[in-house]
Formats: sequence, structure tokens, C-alpha cells
Amino acid sequence: MGAALEIRNLHASIEDKPILRGVNLTVKQGEVHALMGPNGSGKSTLANVLLGHPAYQVTAGQIIFDGVDLLELDADERSRAGLFLAFQYPVAIPGVTLANFLRQAINSRMKATDPNSKGISIPEFRRLLKAKMDFLQIDHSFAGRYLNEGFSGGEKKRAEILQMAALEPKISILDETDSGLDIDALRIVAEGVTKLLGPNLGVLVITHYQRILNYIKPEFVHIMFEGQIVENGGPDLALRLEESGYDWIREKYGTA
Ligand code: ADP
Ligand code: MG
Repeated sequence: MGAALEIRNLHASIEDKPILRGVNLTVKQGEVHALMGPNGSGKSTLANVLLGHPAYQVTAGQIIFDGVDLLELDADERSRAGLFLAFQYPVAIPGVTLANFLRQAINSRMKATDPNSKGISIPEFRRLLKAKMDFLQIDHSFAGRYLNEGFSGGEKKRAEILQMAALEPKISILDETDSGLDIDALRIVAEGVTKLLGPNLGVLVITHYQRILNYIKPEFVHIMFEGQIVENGGPDLALRLEESGYDWIREKYGTA
């Protein structure tokens, strides 16, 4: 049995304003899900709650990851347990190269599992990094860049995918809504995710844009509206969104 991320009847607020109003969603290792929905529906709120962002209060419900109560874990522990949140490291870190950052992340995971671990050796890390970059067709010089410093939108995405490849998470959450995503950046994410897919990786791509579905083929598509997942389907649902947008969702579920 692979790991699963199970979100059960999740309610969450920000500044006492309820945003999530009973979200149910299960993502298993080996599955690709897309969470879509109009702007303001609560997608990023869900991502932030999964990350453990302190501004959001969970007022009801549960999140179980690989059999563990996720809400009891801090952000680092969530990552070590095998949950990857792509927007976890959005800031530039002066003086830290992408390679350094990845090595530290791998070391901290190894030490969490085994307190006596000396971490990954430099030659071993170099081999791993090279293999991952070759696999993803990322230029080797990229690992020497300072993390996110002067990165274009596409380069940030490439760095995210490389982090994901190096950390080998069980479940990855990618929130693709903000940061001025151009079509190149979307393509990089989609191609990277597609390459990394396999029985050991589950992915939840959160996006407003139907067009990412031209590049990534989720088996499961969910539509969030006003803090709830109102529609669950397969590729057919993605096609419907591509053709008709979200107006039919507003008509069907809108309260205003
Ligand atoms: P989405 O990612 O689907 O566009 P968000 O989760 O960003 O939606 O936003 C959901 C709702 O939460 C919106 O109504 C938004 O105005 C509100 N919201 C988000 N962040 C904050 C905040 N920091 N303070 C108050 N309201 C917020
Ligand atoms: Mg958002």
C-alpha cells in the first residue's frame, strides 16, 4: 500500500473569515490530480493549510498523510515525511546555491530518519544531482546558481522540479496560480512532473489555468468553488473546463 494524503471535511479560516468549508480530497501515491477553480475559490488557502502557514486556522476536519495526523507536524516534519510543497521555498536565499540548498535538504532528511547519519557525501551528492539533472535535461551549470536570485519564472519552476526530483517525495503539491506563470513555465512544470511520475509519486497540481491540461494529463480533476470541492471527474471534466470555463460552475453552485 502506498502513502495517501487524505483531506477530510476540512474547514479553515483566515483572520476569522471562513474560507474552506468542508474540503474532501484524497491523493494517493502514483496518482495525478488537478485541483482547479475560479480565482478566490480557496485553492491557495488549501495549499497554505497543507504547508502549515501560521496565518490560517483549521477550525474543523482532518488531514492524514501516510497514516499520520499532518496538522500535528511542523512544516519541516511534513517535508521529511515525504510531502513536497513546491512553493515552500519561494524566496531568494543570498549566497546559497541551488546545489547547496538541495544537499542541506537531503542531509536534514537523512538525519531526521537516522540521528547518527553523517549525511550524503559530496561525491555521492554530485552523482545524484548529475543523474537527476540529466534525467530532467537541466543544464549542469544551473545547480551553481544562487537560489531563486534573478531566476525567471521558468527557472524557478525548473528549480522546483529539480528539488522535487532530489527529495523524492511521496506526494507533491504544486500551486501554479500566482507568480506570473507564462506558458513556458507551465510547460516546464508539466514536462518535469510527467517525467517524475511513477508508482511512488502522487501529484496534486493546483491551477486556475485550463491550459496546463494541454501538457499534463491528470486522471482526476476536482473543481473548487467557494471553499468546497463541488465537482470531481476525470479528463472529461478538464475538457469541459477548457471549452466552457467556469461560468457553468457559478450558475450551478453560486449563492449570490
Ligand atoms: P484561490 O487560490 O482559489 O484564488 P485563495 O485561497 O487565494 O483563492 O483565496 C480564497 C479567499 O480567501 C478569497 O476570498 C480571498 O480574498 C481570501 N483571502 C486569501 N488570503 C487572505 C488574507 N490574507 N486575508 C483575508 N482574506 C484572504
Ligand atoms: Mg491561488
